[in-house]
Amino acid sequence: MMTEAGSFADKVKQQADIVRVVGEYVRLKKSGQNFTGLCPFHSEKTPSFAVHPVKQIYHCFGCGVGGDVFKFVMEMEKCGFPEAIRLVAEKCGIAVPPPRERSPEERRENQQRTALVKMHSEAAAFFARQLETTPEGKAAHAYLEDRGLDQEAIVRFGLGYAPSGGDVLLREFRVKYAEKLLGVSGLFSTDASGRLYDRFRRRIMFPIANESGKVVAFGGRALGDDMPKYLNSSETPIYSKSAVLYNLDKAKEALRQRDFAILVEGYMDTIGVARAGHANVIASCGTSLTESQAKLLGRFTQRVVVNYDPDSAGQAATERSLTLLLEQGFDVRVLQLPGGKDPDNFIKADGAAEYAKLLGASPAYLDYLIARARQTDLTSGEGKLRAVNFLMPYLQRIPNRLLRSEWATKIAEQLRIEEPVLRESLKRAAVERRSNVQTNPELVARAGKPAERRLIQLLIESDDFRQRLAEAIRATDLHRGLETEQILAALVESILSGGRPDPADLAANLDERHRRLLFEIAFESGGAASWEEAESCLRALRRGQVDAELAALQKEIEVQAASKSPESSEALRSLLQRKQELTKLSQGM
Ligand SMILES: [Zn+2]
Repeated sequence: MMTEAGSFADKVKQQADIVRVVGEYVRLKKSGQNFTGLCPFHSEKTPSFAVHPVKQIYHCFGCGVGGDVFKFVMEMEKCGFPEAIRLVAEKCGIAVPPPRERSPEERRENQQRTALVKMHSEAAAFFARQLETTPEGKAAHAYLEDRGLDQEAIVRFGLGYAPSGGDVLLREFRVKYAEKLLGVSGLFSTDASGRLYDRFRRRIMFPIANESGKVVAFGGRALGDDMPKYLNSSETPIYSKSAVLYNLDKAKEALRQRDFAILVEGYMDTIGVARAGHANVIASCGTSLTESQAKLLGRFTQRVVVNYDPDSAGQAATERSLTLLLEQGFDVRVLQLPGGKDPDNFIKADGAAEYAKLLGASPAYLDYLIARARQTDLTSGEGKLRAVNFLMPYLQRIPNRLLRSEWATKIAEQLRIEEPVLRESLKRAAVERRSNVQTNPELVARAGKPAERRLIQLLIESDDFRQRLAEAIRATDLHRGLETEQILAALVESILSGGRPDPADLAANLDERHRRLLFEIAFESGGAASWEEAESCLRALRRGQVDAELAALQKEIEVQAASKSPESSEALRSLLQRKQELTKLSQGM
């Protein structure tokens, strides 16, 4: 959340004392220049939650949450940004200006959204009533009981029934709401002559709530053989299918506390897993996971166990979701249940204890993928090549080079690969890395060399020479290719555009991994800063660059030296010359 300079939010942030505000929720103790306490976002016995009174930020070294005073209040109070500003202002005794007058258009949109939310809450009550009171509803109720859902579960998940009539809901709503509003609600469809009718007919209804628990859409499961088996509300001003996770509203506390999510495919799976004692379960609502859904989930945990159906559609969805989760920096495991069962059926047949056992033993995603690759025919070289090509993209998504190389060895062993060609391509994949791939947040603690970390601190803290340092980095492009490149670039950018860098504001434009890293570095205390120290950090980075170039050069030299062609001896000469220059340069450093 960016606070614009000069805005009311900015004014509140300048005046608010983060230690006092956080102190209302967390018992804080002074510890060096910081304050520490037990993290309110995950359960722990020794404090890893810290507040920095000068930089006005908080950060948990355990679960990685962090931000400014507004972010903290938003998370604790489960409220939006404007509400957090108001709350912080009130806590600090700052007068709140009356809300800005909205444009007529904004006001209309707001009114429409409010009306749609109200309509959905009424629709949920309507469907629930149908399930309890009408003859066909009671038949649906019996069907649910038959599938093992008792009254407690039906109420807990707000299940209902959409009658078969075709206009039952429409008649109920027509007297209360304008035709136009009904048309955009996602609850009705239009026939050829433009007349509205109930979108959901003869279906079990699952209310889909947004993050704050307001019903914004429905999923309907056909009771008979009607197609499609599952039907969702259409997109509306309050519902975007790709941005909502089913059950997130009920799961979010458990996601934080247990620090992992169980990702399943459907409504019944979610309910089944939740009832088996795992409140931290969510579903992607009939699609494979989208990027917005992954980002949404990432606000609560960075660890996921993917538990999709074992059928081939489920397997394809698992692999698509894996790719996306890896790219978003999640730690991913895969739970594949035996006997071709989906989570709901498995728990019914084999029990919650057995499910919990398998859940705890879920393999890391690469182990799962290797097992999949081994299902293809590995007796021929061609089969092995196919298996390696299947695994390669995943291998390249592993953030840490050492880990990548360990996995490459493991893959070679498991697939019994002796052929030097395949081994070579595995090795190459272990060295190369896709540039769009992000690093696992668990590895962040050690990310960035000391010189990079210190430079970041100096840029944040040193009022005396911040500008000069930023210019030096920009002029030589020293941050290119570093693990902290994104952070350094953001810092330099903000300083050269005339600002005093604020870690919380910078974090708003960084991804999860870099945000964590930035906060960790901001909390390290480096002592008094001098320009000499800054220069020595710059020299260290320059040396790193030269060393990297030398190493690459050496490799190239070996390749050319092995070749006997006349062109290569020419190339070799110029490579050796460059090497000499660099060696001299590096000795002079
Ligand atoms: Zn924490």
